[in-house]
Amino acid sequence: MSLGWWRQWRRKRILATRAIPDALWQATLEQYPFLAGRRADERARLRELATLFLAAKEFSGAGGLVVTDAMAVAISAQACLPVLELGLQRYDGFVGIVVHADPVLARREHADDIGVVHEYDEELSGEAMHGGPVMLAWSDVADAGTTSAEAYNVVVHEFAHVLDMHGGLTEGAHEHRRDGARGAWLQALVDEYDAFCVGLIRRDESLLDPYAGEAVEEFFAVAAEAFFVAPRALQIERPKLYNLLREVFRQDPALTLA
Ligand SMILES: [Zn+2]
Repeated sequence: MSLGWWRQWRRKRILATRAIPDALWQATLEQYPFLAGRRADERARLRELATLFLAAKEFSGAGGLVVTDAMAVAISAQACLPVLELGLQRYDGFVGIVVHADPVLARREHADDIGVVHEYDEELSGEAMHGGPVMLAWSDVADAGTTSAEAYNVVVHEFAHVLDMHGGLTEGAHEHRRDGARGAWLQALVDEYDAFCVGLIRRDESLLDPYAGEAVEEFFAVAAEAFFVAPRALQIERPKLYNLLREVFRQDPALTLA
């Protein structure tokens, strides 16, 4: 009796007994056009993955927030987009999802170049930590249907980080390396990041939020948002970056989405 058999059996049982109800799934699609606009076979697979995701992860509300079925399905469906072709095991490294009603203020410290420590509050719509829970602000998740026009999606952003932390996609991006040491994919991503940062200084218009200039891993997560919710716009603005993401996610959302 192999683990493969057990996994398969468990998967079938969850899909048969705990499938997301039709009405709830349809309501979720209607709210998020970047889900509704995917091919029928992709939507069907996404529904299966979201069902398995719901069974495997633990949702909790912070500050008395009650996480309803509709909220959990909305989060699961968007969270599963990046792993649609990669498989749910990419998310095995964490279990908890903590949902806040609104963005959270986090106290941050930053030491400047001369060693002076500055304290400030950062407003977080989401956060992903290594092995820890994923935090999301429901207000941002709920708005994702309309903010997709600005290529913004907090769920995709945080789960792109989870995928990156688990798979080490951007690992080594900040180390000073000889040409070729990074691998072709990461080097190409770093080149796109460097070009984006030059554009930021020139104040070029971009679909990508300036926050993408913070670090390569943020660039990857912000670009993933655009890739999944405004793919054609990203493909037009940064075709090389689009192709890098198409390669890593093994999907081509611009084929069916605006
Ligand atoms: Zn981030």
